[in-house]
Amino acid sequence: MSAAPFRVLPHLDDENRFFWTSGADGQLRFLRCGDCSEYVHPPAPECPACAGRRLSPEVVSGRGEVFSYTINHQQWDGSPEPYVIALVEIDEQIGLRLTTNLADIDIDRVGVGLRLKVCFEQQGDVFLPMFTGDDR
Ligand SMILES: [Zn+2]
Repeated sequence: MSAAPFRVLPHLDDENRFFWTSGADGQLRFLRCGDCSEYVHPPAPECPACAGRRLSPEVVSGRGEVFSYTINHQQWDGSPEPYVIALVEIDEQIGLRLTTNLADIDIDRVGVGLRLKVCFEQQGDVFLPMFTGDDR
């Protein structure tokens, strides 16, 4: 088990609270438009695709793949070992991406297209969505 690198915790507000607490039940959620079915991230009051305002959180599979990534070797933030910062594209929608860390993964395996599944690290009220290898 590798410890998660230091993260500044998000400030929760009425718009984003569902996202940062979604992992309490192990599920990843994004806002989805009730009019055109577009997933919207980061959370916003209005759908960027159709300007609809009927947005509500919906569970997604939690699976996706590495869209791009960088490996941090600097110990500037006190993290003990190199870690991966990845842009993860979620399976449900092209362009639905999260910038996050990869956890419990062999850095040598990381590359664009690597299959991932979500995992969460709880810090107080917040469940940080992170990703690890999907070996199914
Ligand atoms: Zn829409």
